[in-house]
Amino acid sequence: MTSPINVIGGGLAGSEAAWQIARAGVPVVLHEMRPVRGTEAHKTAGLAELVCSNSFRSDDALHNAVGLLHEEMRRSGSLILAAADRHKVPAGAALAVDRDGFSAAVEAAIAAEPLIRIERAEIDGLPPADWHSVIVATGPLTSPALSAAILKLTGEDALAFFDAIAPIVHKDSIDFEKAWFQSRYDKPGPGGTGRDYINCAMEHGEYEAFIAALLAGEKTEFKEWEASTPYFEGCLPIEVMASRGHDTLRYGPMKPVGLTDPRTGRRPWAVVQLRQDNALGTLYNMVGFQTKLKYGAQSAIFRTIPGLECAEFARLGGLHRNTFINSPKLLDSSLRLKAEARLRFAGQITGVEGYVESAAIGLLAGRFAAAEATGHMLAPPPPTTALGALLGHITGGAAAETFQPMNVNFGLFPPLAETGKKGPRGADRKTALAHRALADLDSWLGHRAAA
Ligand SMILES: Cc1cc2nc3c(=O)[nH]c(=O)nc-3n(C[C@H](O)[C@H](O)[C@H](O)COP(=O)(O)OP(=O)(O)OC[C@H]3O[C@@H](n4cnc5c(N)ncnc54)[C@H](O)[C@@H]3O)c2cc1C
Repeated sequence: MTSPINVIGGGLAGSEAAWQIARAGVPVVLHEMRPVRGTEAHKTAGLAELVCSNSFRSDDALHNAVGLLHEEMRRSGSLILAAADRHKVPAGAALAVDRDGFSAAVEAAIAAEPLIRIERAEIDGLPPADWHSVIVATGPLTSPALSAAILKLTGEDALAFFDAIAPIVHKDSIDFEKAWFQSRYDKPGPGGTGRDYINCAMEHGEYEAFIAALLAGEKTEFKEWEASTPYFEGCLPIEVMASRGHDTLRYGPMKPVGLTDPRTGRRPWAVVQLRQDNALGTLYNMVGFQTKLKYGAQSAIFRTIPGLECAEFARLGGLHRNTFINSPKLLDSSLRLKAEARLRFAGQITGVEGYVESAAIGLLAGRFAAAEATGHMLAPPPPTTALGALLGHITGGAAAETFQPMNVNFGLFPPLAETGKKGPRGADRKTALAHRALADLDSWLGHRAAA
């Protein structure tokens, strides 16, 4: 009989991975440390516990990227989506669940699956050498002993304990009548052009109003166990910088030196810079703008920045306790650690963000591992699918130097019109991307079945 694949962590990603492996006819051991050892956020011993909100976000497959990801996961036989559908509660266009019913359904399905064995114990170091295929899906609150072992294996700069997410903007929503491309002092730097940043200028009055809004904006608090973790000190939220003095930001991330506003021919009073965030060049992050402002306050305040009045955010900023690896640097396209190919990673620890995205990466890791165990190589899903776009982002599309966790969004998909012609816009564009994705997913799933 094929030797079992070991999955560490019975959360959203690990449960989905174990299910996919078993469905492919391969045995699995699923290691979950709760209730023997807890985390700061989990409250139960149940598999796939939702630690906070009970929402899987939009379920609209034709207009929303996470809704599309739901549909792709359903078509791929996802246990997490099946349990969510069975335990949904009324939530408008969103998919929200009864969290206890959902977790119990996942656990019951896994317990009833003869090819899965659940072991309740912490894996407190690198897996034993005779585990030939392992999926590490231990999530944002990976136990300290395992985190330390991963840190040793990957290196200090490749494992983070806090995310520091600056808002990310769809480039095509920026007003280039006001914003312009320029690097400070026009320096090309290694590999640049001298025009690598998008700049949004502020005059004195605009800057003063912006600082006042940052200080007044509603903030989310750190949880007690987050505040007592020392790692976030190096990466201050912008509103904390603003509170340290009126000019702190103007001498920090908003410094205008080396820049000339083409509209005035002068150096502006302050500047917001945006840097390319993905290889496709469709997304730009606001440099140094990690923040604990609430989402509503972020959208309102950042849309007062000249050039960003109509900005569409691919994701808003945040700062949380979050264990994640530098996937673009460390993982290959089937989620294997390049330095030790028997180890795959899945879920939030790979630098995706959210319940659905974590489960989606678990689904792919499970399928890759099962294919390998049965002597096949499974090609990654096409980049035009939500599964493929998310996988492609974390394993190569994202810049490794500035890698931060990411939600699925349409900015990760290759554009429709590759000939330079203008394609559909707005809602029509999303629908066209979704139709293309579902058709391409179906042929990937069909192709696999035939292999
Ligand atoms: C406080 C908090 C709130 C969040 N809120 C939301 C939200 O509202 N909406 C959202 O979409 N996302 C949220 N997230 C982000 C993320 O989507 C969830 O954390 C999600 O559960 C990640 O799935 P996962 O499978 O990667 O990790 P988890 O679901 O956390 O699963 C990891 C599992 O591994 C186990 N484990 C850890 N270390 C070991 C070990 N050494 N040995 C054995 N088992 C181990 C853990 O007990 C856990 O069961 C939140 C994250 C945190 C930390």
